Amino acid sequence: MTQLSDRVLNMATSATLAMAAKTRELKAEGKDIIGLSLGEPDFNTPDFIREAAIQAINDNYNSYTPVDGYVELKDAIITKFKRDNHLNYKHSQIVVSTGAKQSLANVAAVMLNKGDEVILPCPYWVSYSDIVKLNEGVPVEVKTSIENDFKLTPQQLEAAITPKTKMIWYSSPCNPSGSVYSKDELRALADVLQKYPNIIVVSDEIYEHINFIGGHASMAQFDDMFDRTVTVNGVSKAFAMTGWRIGYIGAPEAIARACNKMQGQITSGANCIAQRAVITALNASPTRVQFMVDEFKVRRELILGLLDGIEGFKTNVPEGAFYVFPDVSHFFGKVLKGQKIENATDFSLFLLEHANVATVTGVAFGNPDCIRISYAASQEQIIEAITRIKNAVS
Ligand code: PMP
Ligand code: GLU
Repeated sequence: MTQLSDRVLNMATSATLAMAAKTRELKAEGKDIIGLSLGEPDFNTPDFIREAAIQAINDNYNSYTPVDGYVELKDAIITKFKRDNHLNYKHSQIVVSTGAKQSLANVAAVMLNKGDEVILPCPYWVSYSDIVKLNEGVPVEVKTSIENDFKLTPQQLEAAITPKTKMIWYSSPCNPSGSVYSKDELRALADVLQKYPNIIVVSDEIYEHINFIGGHASMAQFDDMFDRTVTVNGVSKAFAMTGWRIGYIGAPEAIARACNKMQGQITSGANCIAQRAVITALNASPTRVQFMVDEFKVRRELILGLLDGIEGFKTNVPEGAFYVFPDVSHFFGKVLKGQKIENATDFSLFLLEHANVATVTGVAFGNPDCIRISYAASQEQIIEAITRIKNAVS
């Protein structure tokens, strides 16, 4: 019998990836499933980036790269941080990884000792909790409310802090709520943290460019926070490069050095061709990918309008990313098509079975009243999916 470790046995399967796998499986069986479960742009990677990758192959980029990334890529990241975020990082503060997911895993591995607490405002991105637990940390979930756009308030932050608090992790724009913290809101959270100088902030800004209100704000922009913030970013979302697997951090030097050491024993440097392509992507003006953001904005209006017509879906207005996160607790305790709905997981499975639409249960994001619907799909698919959902629940 295989003797697997407690570590993996105690770990949840990524709910987003599990639902994506289930969708693929059902489609292969011939079922007409509309997949709105995965947070993945449905655009092709822009030509100018693909051409840079082809050029890199032809230029014989085929060797191991520096563990923390090519110097030219670090140059591009430093320029991007200055240009878009007014952050002044040095080369020694940048680490390139195999996706922002690995960046986050590195940070957890180098920061957490057994029992250290990590504050996770709920809803949080699905993998935060398990990455923390894998590294023997304790996720401290802090509930936020839909009325406050699922944003953490300074009072809630203060109340969650204990002597064991090591870090706070959040994403803005947020996956799954789409909420965007303003500069003032971040400042108010930073003011609380002033009293607790040992707490490190992990600011996940991977949806930075997919922002419908303008004015992305980084926690590290505040001088008093720069030396205690890890800024996480990557190219999966804004550049439609999910499969290329490149993410990066700007971090206090000691943390960056530790991540470099950790990665050097686990994966080494990220893929060399992808790194070369990302140099081109980051050096380009963000206006070159604005067409995707514009399309996501149109889809946001479309899906919000359609959901508004279904009783029992209570939704805030997402300001970024490409998800809606409706509260569907109205259906709990009800029987739909002979099936008792007890919670968001039942509801999401009901939609898969009876509407042929794949969504993700809010349980995976630390909010059991909601489901996540990705609108990184064509307008036709969105219209068809929400029509099917409406028919299934009416
Ligand atoms: N952070 C957030 C908030 C995400 O939604 C994702 C999803 N891909 C990631 C990190 C990881 O991104 P990747 O590993 O593709 O760079
Ligand atoms: N981040 C995306 C999502 O939330 C991709 C899937 C994943 O990496 O978990 O759906």
